[in-house]
Amino acid sequence: MAVSGKPPYDPANIFARILRGEIPCKRVAEDEHALAFHDIAPQAPVHVLVIPKGAYVSAADFHAEAPAEAIAGFWRMVGRVARELGLEEHGYRLLSNMGEDAGQEVGHFHVHLFGGRRLGRMVP
Ligand code: C5P
Repeated sequence: MAVSGKPPYDPANIFARILRGEIPCKRVAEDEHALAFHDIAPQAPVHVLVIPKGAYVSAADFHAEAPAEAIAGFWRMVGRVARELGLEEHGYRLLSNMGEDAGQEVGHFHVHLFGGRRLGRMVP
C-alpha cells in the first residue's frame, strides 16, 4: 500500500503491457518518448491515446518527475498525431483523466485525443 495517497505504478497495467508488446494495439505513431494508438472503444471518429514510455501513473507524476526531454517528446508526439491524422484544420480535443474521481481507469499517464467531427461542449 502506498504511504501517501499517491498510488504506486503497477507494471502490470494494460498500457505497460502494450508498451512491452504483450498486448497488441492499433499503432498510430511511436518514437523513443511516446506511443500513440487508437482507443479500443472510440468515443469520436478519431480517438487516439498518447502515452509516454516512462512509468508514470498520472499527469501529476509525469509533469513533476519526468525529465524535460521526455515531457517535450510526449507533447511533440501529441502534436504530430494531430497533424498526421489531419485534425489541425477543424480542431481537436485533448483530455487526461487524473485519478479515480476523474474516471481514470488505466494507471499509466495518457492523453486522449478526440477529433474527426464537431465536438459537443465539454461538460465536467
Ligand atoms: O482515461 P481512462 O483511464 O478512463 O481511459 C482509458 C482508456 O483506455 C479508455 O478510453 C479505454 O477504451 C482505453 N483502452 C484501450 N485499450 C485497452 C484498454 C483500454 O484503448 N486495451
